[in-house]
Amino acid sequence: MGKIIDALQQALPLLGVAANVTAASTSNIFAVPDSAWKSLNDSVSGRLHLASPAGLPCFTSYESAWGLDANAPNAAQCQTVKSGLSTSLDIISRFGGYHNPTFSTCMRRGQKCTLTATEGIRNDTCFQGTVPDYYVDAQSVEDIQKSLQFAQQYKLPVTIKNTGHDYRGGSAGVNTFAIWTHNFAPDPVITENFTPDECPSPVGPVVTYHAGQIGTHLYNSLQGTGYMIVAGSCPSVGPSGGWVAGAGHGIFTPSFGLGVDNVQQMKVVLPNGTYVTANRCQNQDIFFALRGGGGGTFGVVTETTTKLHPDQEYSYAFVQLPVTDVRGANEVLVANAERWSEEGWGGVYGVLDVAGSPNLVWLGYNANLNLDEGKASLKPVTDYLEALPGSENLVSIFKTLPNQITAQNDPVLLSILLPEAGVSLTRSSRLVPKKNFQTADGQKALVDALMENKFGWGAVIASPTNYTLAESDQPGGPGESSVSPAWRDSIWHLTYTTTWDPADPVATTPEALASMFQEMSEAMDPIRAITPGAGAYQNEADVYEPDPIGSFWGEKNYARLLAIKKQLDPDNLLSCWNCIGWNVNDERHECYLNVRGIGPSN
Ligand SMILES: Cc1cc2nc3c(=O)[nH]c(=O)nc-3n(C[C@H](O)[C@H](O)[C@H](O)COP(=O)(O)OP(=O)(O)OC[C@H]3O[C@@H](n4cnc5c(N)ncnc54)[C@H](O)[C@@H]3O)c2cc1C
Repeated sequence: MGKIIDALQQALPLLGVAANVTAASTSNIFAVPDSAWKSLNDSVSGRLHLASPAGLPCFTSYESAWGLDANAPNAAQCQTVKSGLSTSLDIISRFGGYHNPTFSTCMRRGQKCTLTATEGIRNDTCFQGTVPDYYVDAQSVEDIQKSLQFAQQYKLPVTIKNTGHDYRGGSAGVNTFAIWTHNFAPDPVITENFTPDECPSPVGPVVTYHAGQIGTHLYNSLQGTGYMIVAGSCPSVGPSGGWVAGAGHGIFTPSFGLGVDNVQQMKVVLPNGTYVTANRCQNQDIFFALRGGGGGTFGVVTETTTKLHPDQEYSYAFVQLPVTDVRGANEVLVANAERWSEEGWGGVYGVLDVAGSPNLVWLGYNANLNLDEGKASLKPVTDYLEALPGSENLVSIFKTLPNQITAQNDPVLLSILLPEAGVSLTRSSRLVPKKNFQTADGQKALVDALMENKFGWGAVIASPTNYTLAESDQPGGPGESSVSPAWRDSIWHLTYTTTWDPADPVATTPEALASMFQEMSEAMDPIRAITPGAGAYQNEADVYEPDPIGSFWGEKNYARLLAIKKQLDPDNLLSCWNCIGWNVNDERHECYLNVRGIGPSN
């Protein structure tokens, strides 16, 4: 008898015993007969598992959905989990691991199973939190079809989890049945002159990759082929998962378009278990929804086929200096923002907190400018910094990078992204339109608003400012995507960020978390006030974004997305926080806090 069946057999009898614990649950997950779970397990080749938080081996008791019980800690397993606490690839390799661990905890009840790097076995309770109760480790289209057919039969709330990077907890959910796509990752395949199914003509070179593929493997697979691709800056984000579902930006999106603009075809298992192909020639509604409508909502994407571009050399700039005159630094960055966007820079700049003091940081990659042009482009900022006291500490690196892989592996870029692993973090986003930069009054208003925030700021320069959207992808066209139209006329994806230790007992009380989320959300209000009608990037947004519909999709896209959602998933089996068609009082969201009047009322 397999280990999984043993585990299932140990757990399933608890259904009756712990009926009082689950009585408050409305999830149909507890009404599924044991025999049905067992036959699902058989149909997915033994890949059905009971889910537990990654930290469980370090605790002496465990409160799962079936109640509180003693837990036999395992020192060796505990040590293994602890040693990978802040290693992205380690975290994503565990179903119960979340890049942003707070979203696996029950924030509302202060219940968690998070670990510190120093503590060993803890005489304490590990809580299930928002970690789903069961998951299928899906490794084929058939596994996903069987799982969704099963969910349909028993009307189960479904969570889709890939890497667990989501900043708003989309890949977790209380008392849900999860489909884990991380291990569905065969090698990417290049096709030199691809014709999307049912389309009349080829679209050129593409690469096809599956649901569990991560950025770094995709980039590595293209090394030496002469091609480059638009994917995320973070090496471990899933380009076929939440990244593309939300829009998908990276260091080259200004010149080559957003992730959604580059997709040529997607394959998806719909909530009713049917497997369909979506592209510009068939299932255009689904193609629209999967590219911008948000992850975890319309089906499980199994593979994505994306355009390849000829690789080339890129100009690189990295400039950094601590600054005391924050207003002056803000002014120089705001004054030159439009120029930099027109010149095609991608990357990030801003006045960020570095080791407790404000630093002007400018990190960019450019496919259009040569080295001298790159230096000239940044002269306003380097001149400004060279004239400051302390300029002997100025870091100013300009060079030519030979190809995309060198840019994606840039140690400076990775030093910004990788420390996020295992840290709890929340952000706020605003897509700041070009027009805000075009007048002296507009620039002053922007600087004033930036000065009001206490978190420091980073402007991700990722809008497709140097990219012409194909006729087919214009509004009303067969390749239209559902991302906020604000992406098309913004210069900045402005972000504020704050972090905390997910195991810190003080920082993780419901009150402390609520006030921190509220502060982060309200910090963006002055920028919202001067950018009416603009948007926000749903994948890196405020958990309590006050206008999710207007900001993430715009009213027109939202109306179409909602109609598609109702047609594909009338029972709302697939859902997540602030996703199309969601219900804030759905049990799966019960661990969220109530902040700014947004949150579960039960
Ligand atoms: C360190 C870090 C760096 C980042 N860098 C970037 C960046 O450079 N550019 C950028 O645009 N974003 C970036 N992001 C944000 C990222 O795009 C989102 O977190 C995204 O949701 C991650 O998707 P995932 O599939 O990897 O993660 P998950 O958390 O597993 O999934 C995210 C959402 O997508 C859904 N989902 C996952 N797989 C599928 C599927 N196959 N079918 C349908 N739904 C699915 C899930 O249900 C969930 O709602 C970054 C995030 C982090 C933490």
